Amino acid sequence: MKFRILNITNILALAMLLLVNHFSTVPVMYFALLELTYLSLIFFGCINISWGFFMPVLCAGKTNEHCIALSFDDGPNSYTGQILDTLNVRGVPATFFCIGKNISGSEPLLQRMMAEGHVVGNHSYSHHFWFDMFSAERMLADMRQMDEEVTRVTGLKPLLFRPPYGVMNPTLKKAIVKSGYTPIGWSIRSFDTTIKDEQKLLTRIMRQVKPGAIILLHDSMPITATILPALITQIKNRGYKIVRLDKMLNIPAYA
Ligand SMILES: [Zn+2]
Repeated sequence: MKFRILNITNILALAMLLLVNHFSTVPVMYFALLELTYLSLIFFGCINISWGFFMPVLCAGKTNEHCIALSFDDGPNSYTGQILDTLNVRGVPATFFCIGKNISGSEPLLQRMMAEGHVVGNHSYSHHFWFDMFSAERMLADMRQMDEEVTRVTGLKPLLFRPPYGVMNPTLKKAIVKSGYTPIGWSIRSFDTTIKDEQKLLTRIMRQVKPGAIILLHDSMPITATILPALITQIKNRGYKIVRLDKMLNIPAYA
């Protein structure tokens, strides 16, 4: 929607410049500046999932209640078992946006997620570095291959989709619309893949906690497994309840 408005605005501005140029010469710099601004906005629209630039993406719950949701990307992975242990002991639910190719050989982890009351979402099959350059057909085939892995192990078909690297673009929008997934983003990016200091990571997350927040974490990172008990304690001490993402957003998790 916002992308469409930007396109229309760009065409109108370009037409206006051409019209003015018809009567008196407009410096080329003005044309360059206009298109540079246009391309920059598209770029930032791609990398900022919360903008909902190409399509609406659910990034937080609309609630005043003190509840938040935890989400873990890139599993099943090295620290998924440890994270599941912590969640189980503390009685806390979460959503795992799994990578399809990681499932083979880690089926028991996926079964644990289901048995222990968590949700499994689709984070693509390949999590390919160039995923965002794929055609819509190839994206869709990749996403469906991930579904097949989940169905093979659990009998369910995920409806929640989190784009690899959190990047959106018009092609991915096409694939998502065609497939009927609900795109899910986040409102708190933990940066647990780059921050090395446990206290700094905890402080960064806690600073942003507010009603309806969705926290992005990764079960591929040791620091995430390490800080999780303290994170849960601090969230609860702040008076927040940790709920399942699909319940907070009131949407179905499976087809
Ligand atoms: Zn990822």
